Amino acid sequence: MELRIAHLYPELMNIYADRGNIITLVSRCRWRGVDVRVDNFGPGETPAWREYDFFYLGGGQDREQRLVARDLASKGAGLADAVERGAALLAICGGFQLLGQYYRTSAGETMEGVELFKAYTVAGRRRLIGNVVVESRMDGNIFELAGFENHSGKTYLTEEGQPLGRVVAGFGNNAEDKTEGIIYRSAIGTYLHGPLLPKNPELADFLLQRSLRRRYGAEAVLASLEDGLEREAHSVAIKRAGR
Ligand code: GLN
Repeated sequence: MELRIAHLYPELMNIYADRGNIITLVSRCRWRGVDVRVDNFGPGETPAWREYDFFYLGGGQDREQRLVARDLASKGAGLADAVERGAALLAICGGFQLLGQYYRTSAGETMEGVELFKAYTVAGRRRLIGNVVVESRMDGNIFELAGFENHSGKTYLTEEGQPLGRVVAGFGNNAEDKTEGIIYRSAIGTYLHGPLLPKNPELADFLLQRSLRRRYGAEAVLASLEDGLEREAHSVAIKRAGR
């Protein structure tokens, strides 16, 4: 089996050790004998959308987001089509904001998003910083996801938007409604970084399973891994959040 990952804007959107998420996905495939290919796409470079099983978009500040928003406008339809056809996607923080409807900065500038997610973001007055724990239900299982957040944007889901989970500790999407992130089909947007996947192996495997199922159907069964270190990292992160 082979998994194909498209990493979008790795140079511009990489402020929270986002590459750690890619390293985790690659390692968890290789440990199971699954081949992986990671291709990077910067501004002006367009992936052959249907060839990829997984798309990744990391975090970035306003300056980088502005550059990406301009380029992403021409990519939104391809990305949305890939997600409709079952590709998995993970977008963190600034990347999550740009996949929504729009992001309005504190200077009053509006960056148009590609509307893959039913959400919009407006800059708040204070930064929302700290450890987060989120209770999330995926494929019938309940997980506690642990991470760190650092954003001033406040994201609101519109009526059809499904949150990734419920905030147990920390701020989440907007510090008001206890929602964190968004999930649509196999696409996830979230404020959690740290990076996120090394210490949340269940989430990494949820995304891998969805990605491989797209290509290989029922044949794609993930062997379980030992995960001692990952679980320890997870429990340290949960404790840091005061849980
Ligand atoms: N402009 C975003 C915010 O602070 C950037 C988020 C991020 O990726 N740090 O809300």
